[in-house]
Amino acid sequence: LPEQEAFDIEYWLLEEAKLQRMPKPKSLAGRVALVTGGAGGIGSATAERLLREGACVMLADIDGTAAEEAAAAMARHFGPDVIRAIAMDVTSEDQVIAACTATALAFGGLDILVSNAGIASSAPIEETTLALWNRNMDILSTGYFLVSREAFRLMRGQGIGGSVIFVASKNGLAASPNAAAYCTAKAAEIHLARCLALEGAEAGIRVNVVNPDAVLRGSKIWSGEWLDQRAATYKTDKEGLEEMYRQRSLLKRSVLPEDIAEGVYFFASDLSAKSTGNILNVDAGNKEAFSR
Ligand code: NAD
Repeated sequence: LPEQEAFDIEYWLLEEAKLQRMPKPKSLAGRVALVTGGAGGIGSATAERLLREGACVMLADIDGTAAEEAAAAMARHFGPDVIRAIAMDVTSEDQVIAACTATALAFGGLDILVSNAGIASSAPIEETTLALWNRNMDILSTGYFLVSREAFRLMRGQGIGGSVIFVASKNGLAASPNAAAYCTAKAAEIHLARCLALEGAEAGIRVNVVNPDAVLRGSKIWSGEWLDQRAATYKTDKEGLEEMYRQRSLLKRSVLPEDIAEGVYFFASDLSAKSTGNILNVDAGNKEAFSR
C-alpha cells in the first residue's frame, strides 16, 4: 500500500477501536418508570433491566418493607438517586394516585408504567367463593385499571407520550383448569390493554402486553396457595410442575423472571416505537398454542 493509504487505514482502525471502548448511550436515559409489584419476582427483575438502561425507577408494592429492601439492594448497584420505593395497594384508588404522584415528584415525570402487581389464587368453579372471585378482579383487573388511568393522566399532561406495559398471563388467553377467576381477571387485563392502546395512540401513549407462561423460580406466587392448587390439579409437586411446563414448551426451557423483563424492556424502549396493542407471549413456545 502507498504510505499515505496505510497510514489512513491504521488511523481509522484506531478510531474504531476507540469507539468500541466508549460507553454506549443508555436507551432509557432520562426516562422514569413505575413498576407495580416491584418488591420481587418479575417486578424486581424488570426494574433492574430498566435501571441497566438508565431509567429512574419507582417500586410500588403492597409489601412496602420488601419494596424498600429491594430498592436498597438496587441502589447499592445503580446508585441512590435512580431508585425509590413506596407502599401501595393497587386496589386503593388513593394509594395508587399517591404512588403515581410520588413518582412524578421524585423523578420529574412518568414515561413508563409496568403494571405487574398481582396474585394467583383460584379454585374449581363450585368452590370459588364470591370473595375469591372479587379478590382476583380487584387486584388484577381493577388494579390494572387504576394504575393505568393515573399513568395516562400524567403522560397525557406531559405531552410526550409514554409506554404502558401490562404483565398479564398466558392464562388470559388460554383456559387453565380450576382457575376460572384468575384466567378471567387476566383476560380482562389483556382487553383493557387493547382498549387503552386505542385511546392512547393519538397522545403517543403505547400500551402493550407481556404474557408470561409459568415462572416458578423467583416468584412468590409459586410458594403459596397457587402452588398447592396447581400441584393438586396436576397431581404433582413443584419440581414436577416445572418439568411439566418445560416439556410442554417447544424450546424445552423454563421461563425466568429475567426473560419476562426482556419482553417488558422491548415495549418500554424505542425498539418498539411502532408497536401498540400488541401481545408478546414469553413462554418458550407453548405447544398448546399450536394445537388450537
Ligand atoms: P410475585 O408474587 O413474586 O410478585 C408479585 C408482587 O405483587 C409481590 O411483590 C406482591 O407483594 C405484589 N402485590 C400483590 N398484591 C398487591 C396489591 N394489591 N398491590 C400492590 N402490590 C401487590 O409474583 P410474580 O410471579 O413476579 O408475578 C408478577 C405478575 O406476573 C403478576 O401479575 C402475575 O399474575 C403475573 N404472572 C406470573 C406468572 C408466574 O408463573 N410467576 C405467570 C403469568 C403471569
